[in-house]
Amino acid sequence: MSWKEELASLTQNRNNSSKLRFDEPLSKHNYFGIGGDAAAYFEVSTTGELAYVVQLKKRWKVPVAIIGRGSNLLVSDARYPGIAVRLIGEFNRLEFDQNRAHVGTGVSLPRLSKTAASHGLSGVEFALGIPGSVGGALIMNAGAWGSSFGDLVERVQVMTDEGELIDLSHDDAQFSYRHSGLKTYFCVTGAILNLTPGDAEEVANLMQNLYNQKITSQPFAEENAGCMFKNPPGHSAGKLIDECGLKGYRVGGAEVSKIHGNFILNLDNATAQDVLTLVRHIQDHVKRERGVDLEMEVQLLGF
Ligand SMILES: Cc1cc2nc3c(=O)[nH]c(=O)nc-3n(C[C@H](O)[C@H](O)[C@H](O)COP(=O)(O)OP(=O)(O)OC[C@H]3O[C@@H](n4cnc5c(N)ncnc54)[C@H](O)[C@@H]3O)c2cc1C
Repeated sequence: MSWKEELASLTQNRNNSSKLRFDEPLSKHNYFGIGGDAAAYFEVSTTGELAYVVQLKKRWKVPVAIIGRGSNLLVSDARYPGIAVRLIGEFNRLEFDQNRAHVGTGVSLPRLSKTAASHGLSGVEFALGIPGSVGGALIMNAGAWGSSFGDLVERVQVMTDEGELIDLSHDDAQFSYRHSGLKTYFCVTGAILNLTPGDAEEVANLMQNLYNQKITSQPFAEENAGCMFKNPPGHSAGKLIDECGLKGYRVGGAEVSKIHGNFILNLDNATAQDVLTLVRHIQDHVKRERGVDLEMEVQLLGF
């Protein structure tokens, strides 16, 4: 029996919403719309099945990649030889207990923001315009307008490489600018967030204002993965790229946005190689002209 047969037999006759597909184009599951096929794509709806994937990974030495909404990912053009896992079902739970949100990592940030606002809870207004999942936001410590997701976190639940669920404190998660220490675990499964009670209408207005500002200053129509580079200390990556005259610079189907220099757009069937060549060109140019190193914020999968 192969790992694929074993995985297929696991999902047969199960009465849940998990979905398994073989030879699935990963380009369908990320905001760049780029990437080769994954040998298997598994939408996992229960903790038990997620723990089973850990066992499969260990026994067959098959690579496993957890993907959220794919809004911060550049996926290789090559075939991914393992299992791409996305969390659905019980990972989409979202409950409020006074000012705390108990949230599964499959929940989208826009859903979290809107639901918190409807409960009159402040803290996640900045996240309406971030098209990721709570899992991706925890891993990346996503943020905007001076707020970062990690600041809200009281506890984080993760699954280890042994398939065990463990509970971490805010400090254990080691949040810093667009980074956390959570990547060392197999998967992040849930969190408890501390929000602040407020007036529902005021929270909703602030959320909407921040969203409106974002969609008028950043490209939203074309396929992209958000900011390509982290802001180097004391600099704005977008401003540096703009000052180097790189807005509109193109490699193959990939182009530096003319609206915001820190966004790379897939304008015309760009390949991952086009995007990476453009990234290297920008990094070399900015280093040469301004002496600053640009570090990628977008995460690579399958390279
Ligand atoms: C138009 C646009 C605007 C954006 N604006 C912002 C912004 O203002 N601020 C900002 O910070 N970001 C922004 N982003 C980037 C992105 O939305 C965030 O980084 C988001 O948090 C990523 O979440 P995701 O679910 O899409 O993660 P993915 O892109 O799917 O994954 C990102 C990384 O997290 C890992 N991962 C995801 N879920 C889990 C999990 N449950 N367990 C373990 N690992 C996991 C993946 O393996 C990968 O390494 C923007 C993106 C776009 C396309």
